[in-house]
This record gives sequence, C-alpha cells and structure tokens, in this order.
Amino acid sequence: MTPPLDVLVVGAGPTGLALAAQLRAHAARFRIVDRSLDRVRESRALGIQPRTLEALAGFGVTDRLVDLGNPAMRLRLHLARRTTTVRLFDIGVTDTPYPFLLFLSQAETESVLGEHLSARGVTVERGTELVRAERRGPGVVCRLRGRDGAEEVVTARHVVGCDGAHSTVRAQAGIGFEGYAYPRTYVLADLDVGGLEPGAVHSYMTRGGVLIFFPLGSPAPWRMLAVRPSDAPDGEVTLPLLRRIADRYGADGSALRDPVWMTDFRLHNRGAGHYRSGPFFLAGDAAHIHSPAGAQGMNTGIQDALNLGWKLALVCRGAAPEELLETYGSERLPVGHAVRRFTDRAFVIGTSPHPVLRFARERLVPRLAPLAMRAKAPRRRIFRTVSELGIHYRGSPLSTTATRPPRHGPRAGDRLPDLPHGLQARIAAPGWHLLLTGPSHLWPDERLAPLLAGRADLLTVHRLGDQGPWPDVAQGLVRPDGHLGYVARGADLAGLRAYVAHWLNGTRR
Ligand SMILES: Cc1cc2nc3c(=O)[nH]c(=O)nc-3n(C[C@H](O)[C@H](O)[C@H](O)COP(=O)(O)OP(=O)(O)OC[C@H]3O[C@@H](n4cnc5c(N)ncnc54)[C@H](O)[C@@H]3O)c2cc1C
Repeated sequence: MTPPLDVLVVGAGPTGLALAAQLRAHAARFRIVDRSLDRVRESRALGIQPRTLEALAGFGVTDRLVDLGNPAMRLRLHLARRTTTVRLFDIGVTDTPYPFLLFLSQAETESVLGEHLSARGVTVERGTELVRAERRGPGVVCRLRGRDGAEEVVTARHVVGCDGAHSTVRAQAGIGFEGYAYPRTYVLADLDVGGLEPGAVHSYMTRGGVLIFFPLGSPAPWRMLAVRPSDAPDGEVTLPLLRRIADRYGADGSALRDPVWMTDFRLHNRGAGHYRSGPFFLAGDAAHIHSPAGAQGMNTGIQDALNLGWKLALVCRGAAPEELLETYGSERLPVGHAVRRFTDRAFVIGTSPHPVLRFARERLVPRLAPLAMRAKAPRRRIFRTVSELGIHYRGSPLSTTATRPPRHGPRAGDRLPDLPHGLQARIAAPGWHLLLTGPSHLWPDERLAPLLAGRADLLTVHRLGDQGPWPDVAQGLVRPDGHLGYVARGADLAGLRAYVAHWLNGTRR
C-alpha cells in the first residue's frame, strides 16, 4: 500500500505554488493538484510587495520577478486643473533590498513559480479536482477526479486548501467564511493608453470615486481599475464603455485602445473563522478575500503559504513537535484580519458615496496629498504596513525573547531585516539559522556542539562579528520563513538550548 502523503496541496494559484516550493525545499512528501487545465493567463493581482519579494528570494526567483516587472516609483495625481507628482519610495527605507512595489501580472508571477517547481522535479497535476475529503484516523482520505473523469483515492496526513474563494477544502473541513459584499461594481481592463507617462501610477480622484491606471507591461501596457459610475449602463464591459468611464473621471477616454482583458466584478470582504481544523489547513483566498486596495491579496496568500510550508514539512519529518502546527493559525489569522480591516478602510475612503468622503476626495486630498508626502515619518509607517514588512509574530508561542534582550535591533517575532545589507541572502538556505554577534572566540565549536547534535541539517550557524543586526553580543535564531524565533543578549546559551530542545526535535527522516 502507498504510504500516505505528508501533504496534499489543493490549488495551484500563487498560494499553492509558493507552498509547494517551500514543501519541496524542506523535503516533504506532497502532491499539488489543480482542477483547471492551464495556469492563469489573465493579469489579476499585479502588485508584488517588498516582503513577498524578500520571502521568495530564498527560492532564487526574486531576481527574475524584478527583471520581468516594473517598479513604479511615482504617483501622478490628476486633478481638475493640474497634475501633481508624488515620489512614492523616497523615504529612506534601507532595511530591505526591495524598497518598492513591483508591478507584474499574476500570470507571469505564477509562470516564474511554476518554472521553479518544474526545475526541481515537482509536477503540478492539472485537470485534477479534489471532489471529497474525509477525515479518517489522524489523516484525510481524498477523492481526486482526473480530466477523463476517472477517480483516484489518496490518503494524506494534511490537506491544505489553496483553492481560492470558493474553497472545496474549506467546505469539507466545515469552516465558515463570514463577511459581506460591497455594493458597487468595478471595472477592470488591461489595455494601452496613449500619452500616459510610463513608469508611474496615475490616479484620477473625483466625487464619484477613483480611476487608477497601473503600469503593467505585459500582457498590455496598463491596467485600468475604476468604480463603475452608478449611471453607467449595466452589461458587458466594452471599449466604448471604458472610454466613457475614463471621460467621467477626467481622463482622456479617446486615448484608450487595444484592450486584451476587460471585466467587471463585485468585491467581498470575508474571512475563515479559523485556518485549521484537524488535518485541514486554509491559505490564501480560501482563508480571506477583500478589496484590491493596497495590493495585499496575493501577497498575503503567498506569505500564508510560506508560514505554513516549513512547519508542515518539519512536523511530518519528525523534526519538530506537532504543536508547531498550531502556530500557523495563531500567527496568520490576525494578519488576515488586519489586512481585511486595512483594505476595507482604504477602499471605503476611495469609493464611498458618503458626502463627507466625496468632498474629501474632490477637495481635500488633492490639496493635502503633496503636503502629506513631505512628512516622511507617517509615510514610512504607511509603507511598513502596505509593504507587509511590518508584519510580526511577537505574541506567538514561537517567539521567545530572553530575560536580557538586545538593547536595540529586531525582536523575537520580527522579520530579520536586511541590515547590514546582504544578511537576508546569508540565511536563504532552507532551515533554521543561528546568528551570533560579537567576538568569535565567544562562540567556539565545542560550546555550540550540544545545540547542533542531531540537528546539523536543520540548523546553520553564522558568526557575524560586529556585522549583525544587534549592537551587542547577541544570539538570534531565525526561523525558516525569515522571522526571529529567539533573541538574547550576551553569551549565555541556556535560554537558546531550552528553545531548541522544545522546537527543533532533530532529524528523524
Ligand atoms: C478579476 C480579478 C482581479 C484581481 N485583481 C487583483 C489585484 O489587482 N490585486 C490583488 O492583490 N489581487 C487581485 N485579485 C485577487 C488575486 O487574484 C487573488 O488574491 C489570488 O489569486 C489568490 O491566490 P490563491 O492561490 O489563494 O487562489 P486562486 O488564485 O484563486 O487559486 C485557486 C486555485 O485552486 C484551484 N481549485 C479550486 N477548487 C479546486 C478543487 N476542488 N480541486 C482542485 N483545484 C481547485 C483553482 O483552479 C485555482 O487555480 C484579483 C482577482 C480577480 C479574479
């Protein structure tokens, strides 16, 4: 009899592909299936946030994404009588190699992740649908239907639903998906716009709402996104309709041409009540959906996957305790809630018909935006949120700060910043990384040997001297997803030994 899989990944959108990449990197036994015969060819999500670029760098795919994409550095605010330029990322963010929002179509992002997987021998089983999943014993019996209608029964210790907003896994696990739909409809198109200055985001803000053109590149130079005006006719989205809508917002509708994708949609704000039920896990759109304001959707999904993949792999290999899996929901559910809250606020401000907000859009924002852009501290705070660099797990059971923490620098639960530059690249290999700062003679091999015993392929030691992120003699244990699990000042290893004994079992398989 075939042994059960460690993990069945259901869905090969950006979330499932990222999960598969991490499961592969951490030597899990898994399969990834998707019911559609082909990957997404539409642009869909088009903004990749700095934290996602950092997190994917470990797979060696980020340089390719950056080469293909378009880092927009400017926002052009088109007002009734003038146009103002706002520089977006001149705020002195130095702790990431990617201090910009990268525009790239979801189709290309998925293609790069797919190439990465196939180069490592992972096949995405397309045309294979999960039709039923039943708990049996500690695992799940799954019924898969192939493109020819033939059914196959597979057992897996864990099933991860990366299967989008209408998730089958979520339904089979009996997890609710509460929330609401926004009342208005939105139009979206990938097309060319003559005369629009390249390399910038263009925003037209009126009482009625917002029209935005994003620089896309492929499959068309621009993405247009707008609230459908309430008096615009219902029905199919056509070029003449887009032109009329653009005119309504004060853009030049006649400049719109060569659309390659036009659609309209209603938006929802919904979230799963929990991200785990026994052997079932949810990630990406299966766990949370919201408005595209701030380009968070795909990014949050990819980061869910990268929080979960290593945990599943290490638990299945016997290299970590079962309890590690509980930290997935406790770390990611609050992130999902925060993203839903933030995108809801941004969206309501940008589109609400409420008279105060309409007035603010038309009169206040145009006057205040250039002034607000001079205030670097609040902009840095906003950038931390939108870029997802500010996401931390300080309250997680997996985050332990010793009684003597370093005086400055990142804390347990924070992502490891790229300070000094190149530090993140040093910890890119799969597994845990122990960073030791201060004179090397404090960290002789014989002191570290008990930590490494039986864990040599799980834990890599880096003696950083004075080139670490803390000014003191310090120890920092970095998790496989780039967040700090344990941080302490000084050379006493007792706390670190206890942490490692709890969370890193050593290699069993
Ligand atoms: C029109 C449109 C425009 C968008 N624009 C933006 C944007 O501008 N910015 C942004 O951040 N986000 C945007 N999004 C959302 C973004 O596309 C999603 O957040 C992202 O795709 C989520 O990725 P995912 O992998 O979690 O789910 P999905 O991409 O939905 O992938 C789920 C996969 O699961 C497969 N699947 C489903 N059920 C089963 C089953 N039973 N068995 C096997 N396979 C199954 C599906 O075939 C699919 O491939 C847009 C979405 C749409 C539709």
